[in-house]
Amino acid sequence: MDLGNLLKQQRDYFNSDETKAVSFRIEQLKRFKHVLKENEDLFYKAIYEDFGKSEFETYVTELSLVYHEISSYIKNTPKWSKQKRVSTSLVNFPAKSYIIPEPLGNTLVIGAWNYPYQLSLLPAITALAAGNTVILKPSELPTKTSAVMAELINSNFPKNYFHVVEGGVDVTTELLNHRFDKIFFTGSTKVGKIVYQAAAKHLTPVTLELGGKSPTFVLADTNIKMTAKRIVWAKFLNAGQTCVAPDYILVEKSIEIPFLEALKTEIESHYDQKYSDAPNYLQIINTTNFERLVKLIDQDKLYFGGNTNKDARFISPAILNNVAFDDDVMKDEIFGPILPVISFSNLDDAIQKVKDQPRPLSCYIYSKSNTKIKKILKEVSFGGGAVNDSLMHLSNSKLPFGGVGLSGIGAYHGKTGFDTFSHQKSILHKSFWLEPNLKYSPYSDMKLRIIKWLMG
Ligand code: NAD
Repeated sequence: MDLGNLLKQQRDYFNSDETKAVSFRIEQLKRFKHVLKENEDLFYKAIYEDFGKSEFETYVTELSLVYHEISSYIKNTPKWSKQKRVSTSLVNFPAKSYIIPEPLGNTLVIGAWNYPYQLSLLPAITALAAGNTVILKPSELPTKTSAVMAELINSNFPKNYFHVVEGGVDVTTELLNHRFDKIFFTGSTKVGKIVYQAAAKHLTPVTLELGGKSPTFVLADTNIKMTAKRIVWAKFLNAGQTCVAPDYILVEKSIEIPFLEALKTEIESHYDQKYSDAPNYLQIINTTNFERLVKLIDQDKLYFGGNTNKDARFISPAILNNVAFDDDVMKDEIFGPILPVISFSNLDDAIQKVKDQPRPLSCYIYSKSNTKIKKILKEVSFGGGAVNDSLMHLSNSKLPFGGVGLSGIGAYHGKTGFDTFSHQKSILHKSFWLEPNLKYSPYSDMKLRIIKWLMG
């Protein structure tokens, strides 16, 4: 495909101003929702074939979020795209001031594979709601989900407005050679740096939704059973292939044993230890990742689980105990169903260890002590997170979602996403009926005194 030509078509179309009309945007969002609803079965089938994801998990962790966000944009786009009046300083009297949110233009959305629908479609619909055109490049690893998105979007939307381009590194590299008005990337920190460098050549603004090792503090005063239940769900959902999954646990020494037992009990009551066609547990996305993960299961530190089946790319939920920060499993984001547990006796030391690592995408704190919760929230920098829960902060679109430091740049979801794909055009609008002489020469002490008084 001639990507330069595709982009030119999108540029011409954007310049026609058609995408700016709020009624047009709402119509497109409704059409998109209709296409999704009509073809839901195809989405379920494709993702099951790619990595065994059930209809239940696909709806709960992917499509429901997309539907919710589309409905929210249909409802709120008129309000969020409206010009907003702000006050005007006396020095500009007589005038009014206002901000016009306007679309950035031609956008590129690059998706990751682990939640292939949500991570591609959410930013894409956000960009459309804000009045942009979109070229979407889903991850090439889940081939079936990439194909189903391409087929449905490309047959239901004009190419010069919203188009899916499938492909791997070569296609993405070529796309990145072109000048977009915004690039929204979800993926690894390593590739995020490549995207950032390519965007810099054209001064294109970016949002980078990256990964990292998200710590989970489990303090002695927590409700152990409930904590284990929530962590096990969050960690082993999608077989641990979740950017905001609890990557590792920091548990207070005094509850280490009962907490480990509670984790084990919780896993046993939800997950099979042998590969089966059980619809509630996923495969690892590919053999490369399967082999990478198997190497991280240190048999000397394996407390529970970790059964594997290479043909099925299956790794049962695994817990490692007595883990140290310099173990291999602590070097990079795990991104799989392995949960290292590190115990600590002194909270300050544990916080310091986390602060020594790159800033994570998420952090979770399980405790009943508001003082300790506040201490961790104040001292540890991370993208976003939850207290006494994990992952569920993503379900509230009023909470901006994004990283900090190596875990990302910028954020989206809800109004934050709309603003991410918008430019705030600021206007001072003067009238002709008065023009004070203050700023004009000849200058005088009196004029300066008045200006100083006016400016505070
Ligand atoms: P990835 O970085 O390998 O791939 C992401 C996208 O980049 C894909 O579309 C891929 O085709 C493209 N790509 C890969 N190599 C490239 C290159 N050299 N040049 C240009 N483009 C390239 O990431 P992934 O394996 O799909 O996803 C896993 C990572 O993404 C994890 O680190 C995870 O934490 C992170 N992630 C972050 C979020 C978030 O919202 N913050 C969500 C999901 C995943």
